[in-house]
Amino acid sequence: MHEMSYCISIVNMAVAAAKENELKTVEKISVEVGEMTGVLPYYLNLYFPEAAKGTILEGCELEIIEVPVTLVCADCNKTYHPDKEHAYNCPDCGSHKGKLIAGRDVSLRNICGE
Ligand SMILES: [Zn+2]
Repeated sequence: MHEMSYCISIVNMAVAAAKENELKTVEKISVEVGEMTGVLPYYLNLYFPEAAKGTILEGCELEIIEVPVTLVCADCNKTYHPDKEHAYNCPDCGSHKGKLIAGRDVSLRNICGE
């Protein structure tokens, strides 16, 4: 049930954002879900209504944007998605000094409401 704990943190982030923007109703939130979190969007959609119950987010639409794991090479600056074919190293120079820049967490991208 690790998706449920992500749902709760999404709800907390969105409630805080709604407060910050002085929203009275929320129609839709967009959430970025990193590939490395192992979170399955299917389960987020399943648990979200439960997590949102009783909050300003109850009944709002949840948009999930899947973010692939992205690394930037410390040697040649290329950004890439690690794959087996290149032994998860930089496809241009073969360096293994990749720095993770995206895909490791769940974050709120946007919130729509009034
Ligand atoms: Zn490189």
